[in-house]
Amino acid sequence: MYDFIVIGAGYSGLTTAALLAKEKKKILVLESHNLIGGCASYFKRKEFLFDVGATTFSGVKQNQPVGKIFELLDIKPKFKKLDPGMVIIQNEKKINRYSDQYQWINEAENKFGTSGQNKFWEKVYRINDEVYNLISSPITFPPSSIKDYFHLINFKNIKRVPLLYSLASSVEKALTDYDLSSNQQFTSFIDEQLLITTQNNRFDTPFLMAAMGLAYPSETYYPYGGMYKPLEAIQNSLRLNEGEIKFKEKVTSIEFNKEYIIKTERGNTYKAKGVVSSIPIWNLELITDGPIKNYFSNYSRRFNKAWGAVTLNFAIESNNQLETAYYQIHLNKRIPFCEGNSIFVSFSLDDDIERAPIGSRAVTISIHTNPNDWLNLTKDNYFERKEIVTKEILESFQKAFPEFNSSEIKHQLTGTPQTFNFYTQRHNGYVGGIPHSLQNNFFSLPKNKTPFKNFYTVGDTTFPGQGIPAVIWGALNCSTIILNS
Ligand SMILES: Cc1cc2nc3c(=O)[nH]c(=O)nc-3n(C[C@H](O)[C@H](O)[C@H](O)COP(=O)(O)OP(=O)(O)OC[C@H]3O[C@@H](n4cnc5c(N)ncnc54)[C@H](O)[C@@H]3O)c2cc1C
Repeated sequence: MYDFIVIGAGYSGLTTAALLAKEKKKILVLESHNLIGGCASYFKRKEFLFDVGATTFSGVKQNQPVGKIFELLDIKPKFKKLDPGMVIIQNEKKINRYSDQYQWINEAENKFGTSGQNKFWEKVYRINDEVYNLISSPITFPPSSIKDYFHLINFKNIKRVPLLYSLASSVEKALTDYDLSSNQQFTSFIDEQLLITTQNNRFDTPFLMAAMGLAYPSETYYPYGGMYKPLEAIQNSLRLNEGEIKFKEKVTSIEFNKEYIIKTERGNTYKAKGVVSSIPIWNLELITDGPIKNYFSNYSRRFNKAWGAVTLNFAIESNNQLETAYYQIHLNKRIPFCEGNSIFVSFSLDDDIERAPIGSRAVTISIHTNPNDWLNLTKDNYFERKEIVTKEILESFQKAFPEFNSSEIKHQLTGTPQTFNFYTQRHNGYVGGIPHSLQNNFFSLPKNKTPFKNFYTVGDTTFPGQGIPAVIWGALNCSTIILNS
C-alpha cells in the first residue's frame, strides 16, 4: 500500500512527489501521457526539441520557490540568466526588460516618458520582494498551527500590512496614483505583460499579484535542453528515493473506502492511504464521487472560465544574433479566434544543441484564445480555423523578425485547446490556471488541504495559482502540510 498516490507528472505533481519521497513516504505517481511535464512538456522532431507551452523560468533565486526546491532536492539544472530577460516590441520600438531594477526604470522612462515610472516600479519591486520574503518563511497557507499564526502576527505587525491592501487594490488604481493611466502606450504594455502572468488586465488584477507578474519579465532564466529538463532532475530525485512513476495510466476514478482506491483507463487498480491530485479542478470533478465530487463541483462552478492557448512550433535556420530568448510582440490588429494584443515568441539559444543543431533554432509562439472558439467544430471548420490562425501568427512573426524572412521553416505544428486537451487531458483545453482578479485572489482558490482525510490538491487551479514558480510554491506548501500532519 502506498502512502500517497500523486495524480499527474507536471511540475506541481512531480515536485510534491519528490518532496514526500525524500521524507520516506512511499509514493506512486500516475501520469496519463508517456512523458513528464504537462503544460511544460516537449516533443521532438528529428534533431529538434520543442517546448509545448511554458518556455520561461523565473523564481530561481535562493529565497524563491524554484531555487528552494533545487536546494532541497540538491539538483542543479543548467540555466542561463538572460539580460534583458524579455524584449517587448511595441510599434516597432524595442523595450528591454533589463535585469537590474534601475536600468529597467531608466529604460521605462526612456520609452514611456519620465512621469511616475520611478515610483510605480519601485512599488512593484518592493511588493514582489515582500511576497518572496513571505514565501521563504516557514509558514503554510492557510495557517494551521500555532507556529504559523505566530509567523503571521509577525508579518502583520511590521511592514507587511501594505501587502493586504495591495490584494484589494487594482493596478489601474496605482497607475492613476502615479499619473500613468492616460499614457496609452504604457497601459497597453502593462495589459499585455499582465495577460501572460496574472491572466487578467490592469482593471481587475490585484496589485499584489500584478507586482509578481510585472517583476518577473526582468528576471528570466533559460533552461538548457528544454523546459522539462529541471523536472527530469526532480523525477530523478523521486526515483532515487524509491518513488515510482507509471506512464500511460490515466486515472478514471478515485473512491474512498477506509483507503483510497484509484482506477485507471487501462483497468488497473491502486490503493493508497492518501491522494495528491495535481490535475485541474474541472477534471477532478469528473473522476470523483459523493462529497468529494460536490466539493470540486462547487469550485468548478465558481471558477468556470479560463483561457486556452494557440501555440505554433517550428524550426528555423538562423545565424542571427538575438538580444534574448523571449519576445512579446504587440500586434497592430487582432488575430482571428485569438485574444489579447500580442504574441509571445521563444527561441532556443544558439548554443543549446540539445534543442536545435548549430545554425538553427527551435521556436515556440503562443497566444491566448477563448477555448469555446475551438469546441464542437466540424473537422473541416477546425482545420480551417487552425490554418487562418497559423497564417496570421506567422505573418506577425515575419513582420517582427524580417531578418528571418529568407530562412527555411521546418517541422511547423500548431496547437490549440483541443491539442492541450488531448495531451494533458485538461478539461476543454483550459490552461494558465484561474485568472487572478479582485474578486478571486489566490486565497480564494481551492486550498492544498481539502476537508477530506489525506486528500490534497496542487497545481495551477489551486493555491497559489498558475506559473511554474507558483505551482512549485503550492507543492512546497502542500508537502509541508502533509509532513507536519
Ligand atoms: C502556452 C503556455 C505558456 C506558458 N508559459 C509559461 C511560462 O513561460 N512560465 C511559467 O512559469 N509558466 C507558464 N505557463 C504555465 C505553466 O505551464 C503551468 O502553470 C504549469 O506548468 C502547470 O503545472 P501543473 O503541474 O499544475 O499542471 P500540468 O502541467 O497540466 O500537469 C498535470 C499533469 O497531469 C496529467 N494528467 C491529467 N489528467 C490526468 C489523469 N486523469 N490521470 C493521470 N494523469 C493526468 C497531465 O498529463 C499532466 O502531465 C504556460 C502555460 C501555457 C499553456
